[in-house]
Amino acid sequence: MNIQNYINGNFHNPIQGNWLNNYNPSNGEIYSQTPNSSKEDVENAYIAAKSAFPSWSQTTLEERSRIMLKISEGIEANLDRLAEAESKDNGKPIWLAKAIDIPRASSNFRFFANAITQFASESHESVGQQAINYTLRQPIGVVGCISPWNLPLYLFTWKIAPAIAAGNCVVAKPSEVTPMTAYLLGDILKEAGLPKGVLNIVHGLGPTTGQAIVEHPDIKAISFTGGTATGAHIAKVAAPMFKKLSLELGGKNPNIIFADCDYDDMLTTTVRSSFANQGQICLCGSRIFVEKSIYEQFKKDFVERVKNMKVGHPSDEKTKIGALVSKAHLEKVLSYVDIAKDEGGKVICGGNKVTVEGYENGYYMEPTIIEIETDECRVNQEEIFGPVVTIMPFSNEDKVLQMANKVKYGLSATLWTNNLKRTMRMSNQLQAGIVWINTWLMRDLRTPFGGLKDSGVGREGGFESLRFFTEAKNVCIKY
Ligand code: NAD
Repeated sequence: MNIQNYINGNFHNPIQGNWLNNYNPSNGEIYSQTPNSSKEDVENAYIAAKSAFPSWSQTTLEERSRIMLKISEGIEANLDRLAEAESKDNGKPIWLAKAIDIPRASSNFRFFANAITQFASESHESVGQQAINYTLRQPIGVVGCISPWNLPLYLFTWKIAPAIAAGNCVVAKPSEVTPMTAYLLGDILKEAGLPKGVLNIVHGLGPTTGQAIVEHPDIKAISFTGGTATGAHIAKVAAPMFKKLSLELGGKNPNIIFADCDYDDMLTTTVRSSFANQGQICLCGSRIFVEKSIYEQFKKDFVERVKNMKVGHPSDEKTKIGALVSKAHLEKVLSYVDIAKDEGGKVICGGNKVTVEGYENGYYMEPTIIEIETDECRVNQEEIFGPVVTIMPFSNEDKVLQMANKVKYGLSATLWTNNLKRTMRMSNQLQAGIVWINTWLMRDLRTPFGGLKDSGVGREGGFESLRFFTEAKNVCIKY
């Protein structure tokens, strides 16, 4: 089966005829071809977006909202099909795609369909000067959206939905590693009656297709989610062209556990925050710091729970850990186990590749826990982005805060405690864009989402996204 670009409301093969193999991570087999689109394909997508812009940007908010709600319903109506496709492309359990990825993709459209009808601009009366200022929030024009492979349709739509809600037209590229659900979205857009050219989906590699989007002189804003090194590269290309940039990048998030927490709740959530989606979520708490007095107990209970997690085929309902996304990624993640051993780490659970019967060439790995004494080592500093966590004891608040903050990243942090003053003190000082207390990955789509330091620039979510995808223009009228 061939995936095609979706440009100007129709499906197209890549102009130069270049294709990439698309692998099924659960069995290592090639099961489709994806375009590796060239500059010409991106230019066609741009032209389609540009022609659609005058009309779409003048479409009433109610009408935009109505079409977006239809897209949301279309995604819901295709839940099973999309979840199976996401699982086949990415390796995640089907039940997970059904419970999280696809419903969230639908919510993204519904949320921004509603948000745009509530998005207000400001006015300022210049008292004593007989003047009034009002601020227009105008769509930018044609914008670029580039997303990663870990939550394919979920993160793709998290960018596209606010972009079109705000009246922009879009050239979007999903990850070449997981292009399938973005391809399937094309039919849903058509059925929902999204005018042609409003959303154009081009597939291909980062350095070819992605680069062409970022370099395009008339694509005026780039919303990117992916790795920190890619983000730095994109910033280098886009900054001299004065493009608006939103960068959601990597993380190395601390999960800090105090003895006074609700232990059972913490334990269950920590298993999830460590290994959900095979640990391939930018928000996973991959560095677990545990207060000394409960360290041994936690270690025993955590290892016991994790040892019982079934690694298996994504279609098996009992599977907790599916396949990692690619062979290269599996090898990278496994290499960190060796790095950890060299650094004095002790593998107390997992650490190995898994062979699943009947799917011997799939990219499976055991959920892995590494006990390590120092935070100044690669496994505690670099983003592994797989089913690998480290655990370490700590003796006091200052010390754990120092370790939590001593990484180049600053995406999220999780804190487990029932001490209110400590919660307030630590939340203020944790260097992270998102802090969860006694929970993890609880999301309210209105809240700002993004990271500090090397985890990114800008915030997504709610009106933050709508602000990013609009230009503010102040009008001052003297009367
Ligand atoms: P990646 O940076 O390799 O790729 C992300 C996207 O960028 C892909 O679509 C890719 O094709 C494209 N790309 C690559 N080179 C490009 C270039 N030169 N120009 C334009 N586009 C280019 O990241 P990945 O491996 O797909 O995803 C994993 C990373 O994403 C992890 O670091 C993870 O932490 C991060 N991530 C961050 C968030 C967040 O919200 N902060 C969410 C999910 C994932």
